[in-house]
Amino acid sequence: MSDKYHWPIFGHKQAIQFLQNSIEQEKLAHAYLFYGSKGLGKKMIANYFASSIFCTSVDKKPCGQCKYCRLVAKNSYLDLYTLGKDDQELSVENVREFMHSLQMANIYSNKKIAIIYNVEKINIFGANALLKTLEEPPANTIIILLADNINLLPATVISRCQPIKFQALKKEEMEEWISKFDFDESERQTIMNLSFGKPGLALQLMQENLDPWKKNCNFIIKLLSSNTFNIMQIIEKWFALLKKENPEARVSDLGQNTKVYIDYLEVMMRDLLWIKLDKPIVNQVFKSELNNISSSYSSEQLLQNLTRLTDYKQKLNNNVNPQLLWENIFLNLPR
Ligand SMILES: [Zn+2]
Repeated sequence: MSDKYHWPIFGHKQAIQFLQNSIEQEKLAHAYLFYGSKGLGKKMIANYFASSIFCTSVDKKPCGQCKYCRLVAKNSYLDLYTLGKDDQELSVENVREFMHSLQMANIYSNKKIAIIYNVEKINIFGANALLKTLEEPPANTIIILLADNINLLPATVISRCQPIKFQALKKEEMEEWISKFDFDESERQTIMNLSFGKPGLALQLMQENLDPWKKNCNFIIKLLSSNTFNIMQIIEKWFALLKKENPEARVSDLGQNTKVYIDYLEVMMRDLLWIKLDKPIVNQVFKSELNNISSSYSSEQLLQNLTRLTDYKQKLNNNVNPQLLWENIFLNLPR
């Protein structure tokens, strides 16, 4: 990799090398398609790629110092167009308007860059509008499409782009990266186990020094280790609080807020089963708590309830009373 490029990114060596070479050799494609699961770093690399194309420094790209780098950092670079940030749904009007804006004259440089995030969220009409632009790309414009799931994109769109595939980071790459943060060994292990080679997922987990994650784990542990009466009380209080925090929300919306706890429960129930089978567990941080709880459940119970969790999650999407559903989850888990 050339020393000239300064992209502080772990992993994705091939993709990065390819993109840097195409800038260096001035062989930029009209359109790129960055694809691969959420949390791998597509957005970050698209940003470094765009800033490096605009940056005027000759020995460090992006330099962070030149006028263009500073404008990009402030989101005020007028030749950089973005669409679909923050999981916004993309209507055909959004796409048409966006494509139309690409016809405007360049302001700062001889190139324009258009980044469309979550491109798989556009419907068939939007995809047609996009396809039209890809077939007749505006001059000196580079379009970068980002997709978590390439299978949702029409083949006609895919075939007009230079595809760049993003894969999970290797174990050693993740280890090296996570070792830069200040966590103890059990925390590091757990982050590795829960992030599946996706730095974005790890970063989400590591927020506030793992505090929110630990709080959620403690909550599930409390439910798993309480008797029926206490479980009912905990769930009652939980929903009273949720209602207070979301006074406008419908009952089914409250259920959506609780969906993430099914994921927590799933990981913990699997760990409880693994402990019984003497296998290494995912959640090393709460190892002793889980060890204590595991004797209260039989392997059969755990296995049965694990398979039910997908159903429960589905039901939370379908207008059920979420409080009853959560009570059922734990009533079905006798110890
Ligand atoms: Zn620069």
